[in-house]
Amino acid sequence: MSRFISPRYTDLVPYIPGEQPKDPDIIKLNANETSMPPSPRVLAVLKSERMRHLSRYTDPSSMELKTALSRRYAVRTSEVLVGNGSDEILGLIFLTFFEQARIAYPDVTYGFYRTMARSFGIDHAEIPLRADFTVDVDAYVHSDRHIVLANPNAPTGYVLPVSEIERIVAANPQRLVVIDEAYVDYGNESCVPLIHKYDNLLVVQTMSKSRNLAGAHIGYCFGAASLIKDLEGMKAAFNPFNLSDVSMAIGTASVEDEVYFDHCVKETIAAREYTKEALRQLGFYVMDSHTNFVFVTHTWLTAEAYNAQLRAHGIIARHYPDDPRVSNFLRITIGTREEMETVIAATKEILCQLAA
Ligand SMILES: *Cc1c(COP(=O)(O)O)cnc(C)c1O
Repeated sequence: MSRFISPRYTDLVPYIPGEQPKDPDIIKLNANETSMPPSPRVLAVLKSERMRHLSRYTDPSSMELKTALSRRYAVRTSEVLVGNGSDEILGLIFLTFFEQARIAYPDVTYGFYRTMARSFGIDHAEIPLRADFTVDVDAYVHSDRHIVLANPNAPTGYVLPVSEIERIVAANPQRLVVIDEAYVDYGNESCVPLIHKYDNLLVVQTMSKSRNLAGAHIGYCFGAASLIKDLEGMKAAFNPFNLSDVSMAIGTASVEDEVYFDHCVKETIAAREYTKEALRQLGFYVMDSHTNFVFVTHTWLTAEAYNAQLRAHGIIARHYPDDPRVSNFLRITIGTREEMETVIAATKEILCQLAA
């Protein structure tokens, strides 16, 4: 650490993302990306004339992408913010609304909420999930804090119905409720329509999962125009050109290719259901995932051993050794059907070997 670092940042704790292996033969199932390429329309944009104009700054309002999103999600462009991944969007939300405030989120959820709360010095309470890993809705209905919920939650994969989210939003008109819908596209109902009814709700989504664009890192959020305006103000004061023209062009192309999107989501859901069933038959307890990953534990095979053995088979998953509540679970991203068949075959071998 240099002698110039601001005193308030001397104990920053970085978020540790899933490892990015160099070996192309590794089956990478540790970061909830997809194993499918982006839409052909995205690839066409990258080869198009437009890329010759990258010597110019792009439109800082990102209106092209906002317009595509506003059509797709039936909102006004004044109700959309776009950014460099939903992590940046969440960062802008935390900075704009939570710096001097108090927030609550579940104790088992996306690790970045804690990281950001610490980074910005935000008073944060972690409300325990119930013993069965479901969200204790009543604890949020009676909250005196702003609320951040991933729905579906990660790494559990469980989802709350929109009616339960609405119960939380309606009970807390003086609190901002942020719903992170990173996995909503995998067969769930979105609470985006609620933004027309409540001005204390922000719904965050990403193209990193269901749109096969983690490497482009494009995120967006929906909310009442008053909230979006505040966020735009922070963005303009911090990084006016937060989304590159490349990202804006390919994000727009992706949103406009609904057919490919539907196809990819269906494939992932089918591979997920296959994986759930196959792992259950091998004696795993598999939580009922509504996402593009499964969260599993086994009667006698520890998560630590399973993780190490999968790695020996060239498969990487995500293990949480430092969190005692979930340290005996493994999170496995759903790849292609073929990749998941390889996982199941490897798992059978591992079980045979270790049982012997
Ligand atoms: C992956 C993920 C994100 C981050 O998405 P980016 O758009 O890639 O920054 C946010 N929230 C949850 C719950 C996630 O799983």
